[in-house]
Amino acid sequence: MCGIVGYIGSKDAKEVLLRGLEKLEYRGYDSAGIAIVNKDGVHVFKEKGRIAALRNVVDTAVSGTAGIGHTRWATHGVPSRVNAHPHQSETERFTLVHNGVIENYEKLKREYLADIELTSDTDTEIIVQLVERFAREEKDVEAAISKTLSLLKGSYATAILDKQDSSKVYVGKNKSPLLIGVGDGVNVIASDAMAMLQVTNQFLEIMDEELVIVTRDNVTVKTLEGTVVERDPFTAELDESDIEKGTYPHFMLKEIDEQPFVMRNIIQKYQNEDGSVRLEEDIRQAMTSSDRIYIIAAGTSYHAGLVGKQLIEKLTNCPVEVHIASEFLYNMPVLSKNPLFVFISQSGETADLRGVLVEVKKLGYKTLTVTNVPGSTLSREADFTLHTYAGPEIAVASTKAYTAQMAVFTLLAVDTAKAKGIELDFDPLQELGIVASVMETLCDQKESFEQIARDFLSVTRNCFFIGRATDYYVCLEGSLKLKEISYIQAEGFAGGELKHGTIALIEDGTPVVALATQDHVNLSIRGNVKEVVARGAAPCIISMEGMEEKDDTFVIPTVHKLLTPLVSVIPMQLIAYYAALHRDCDVDKPRNLAKSVTVE
Ligand code: GLU
Repeated sequence: MCGIVGYIGSKDAKEVLLRGLEKLEYRGYDSAGIAIVNKDGVHVFKEKGRIAALRNVVDTAVSGTAGIGHTRWATHGVPSRVNAHPHQSETERFTLVHNGVIENYEKLKREYLADIELTSDTDTEIIVQLVERFAREEKDVEAAISKTLSLLKGSYATAILDKQDSSKVYVGKNKSPLLIGVGDGVNVIASDAMAMLQVTNQFLEIMDEELVIVTRDNVTVKTLEGTVVERDPFTAELDESDIEKGTYPHFMLKEIDEQPFVMRNIIQKYQNEDGSVRLEEDIRQAMTSSDRIYIIAAGTSYHAGLVGKQLIEKLTNCPVEVHIASEFLYNMPVLSKNPLFVFISQSGETADLRGVLVEVKKLGYKTLTVTNVPGSTLSREADFTLHTYAGPEIAVASTKAYTAQMAVFTLLAVDTAKAKGIELDFDPLQELGIVASVMETLCDQKESFEQIARDFLSVTRNCFFIGRATDYYVCLEGSLKLKEISYIQAEGFAGGELKHGTIALIEDGTPVVALATQDHVNLSIRGNVKEVVARGAAPCIISMEGMEEKDDTFVIPTVHKLLTPLVSVIPMQLIAYYAALHRDCDVDKPRNLAKSVTVE
């Protein structure tokens, strides 16, 4: 969620920090700030709203060769200038930015800081005040910061400046992501490598509960107990052009259009020379030896998980359960004897998933992460990783990462089936190739979806999506897309379920999007459409070739029956996109949302 950047080198830090924050904008935030340290002291600039607003308040006359920056996604205290980071200690000696949530901040305030008045409502401020308090007692800044960090419960990524020593930035993390970028005569700090590709592509991982002291020429990593840790940097395999919009008006549209390319990329990455599917032997072993798979996910990834469940169950006969990560820990089902846990996370940083990962690892179970970011926390901490190869996804509403997750699940299911000696009557890589071509055809017909959005969604306040079997899962995703970016209240329903209550909401003109791509339920979903039409609904029927009827709104070319969600979601994505556009919504950065949800 939100983000942190830092710079220490020989250039003026301001522009590098602001540009770095702009690269992190996609993660979602409500205020932003930077602090620059120079011989006159520390200069803090912060503002509610976008980085553009922050740029307006930054004093261009102030310059310095070290600084930190932050985008905040408020958890404690409203989004405001006062609550925006950086925060400063009592005498303004220390200045700090923080991502995450300090769960015991009230207790720490009572125990150590009862005598001071905090200036903000944030949990964060407690950290910087404690550092100053302990620095006074210990006379040693490193020891004061280590002591502070060791008292914190919860999640944090933090960067700290000391007015009395502008040659250092102190950095620490627990659960929240943070990296050090290593350059020549310059070092940087970033929640996401993307933010600092402008300076370097060499990055150093920081582990939980370490203190890192960053100077212009050095990076020293220590445990909180003071033992020095040696670690080599890795090369971030990212290209700055991957994170540019090019000629597209929005990242979301670019990412929707990239889906055929992503499919072909996945085919290539997971293909043996003889055309068969290539997966790691260890993953195959884990899949074939487990008696039940538990998929843990959230949001769009949860919807991909539902499709993943179908693929694995249909192709391998292994039972699969899909669980919402934030519920699983507090409502754990009875587990099978030999479970395999599969975590799906675009960013690989989702805090709700990490909570489950940590717990099931303690129980000794095997874990696999399906993610778009290898090297992310969930990828590092699970036993195995499957990379979705979708390339950076910047728009908050996920599109290409979702279809990539489902494609990877297809390969996982196929590989497991083969390993179990189950004969398949289709070539999965060839079928994914057909999916890519159909995706292209759909992306080429944007005007149709723009028209649907105009006809059905320009004035409505709500909208329903209905489908049966696999189509139901796509309806859940379609409605989530629409909610996320257009703010139209939308719900996805199993076709037969609406009449058990929610049909009461259907009135004259209520849009109902019906998906009909499954021949075994085609007649039933058509019946459900009739039920809502009889009550005044305006139906938008999206069907698949071979199942179409005369008045269908759009007909999708055929793909393999198990792979329909990979293509039928594209009309949903595009309809949501155009609905948001017609309503003047901020498509790439919808209100209240964050891209990588690193708080629980
Ligand atoms: N909990 C902190 C706050 O509300 C940090 C939130 C964030 O991660 O941006 O200020």
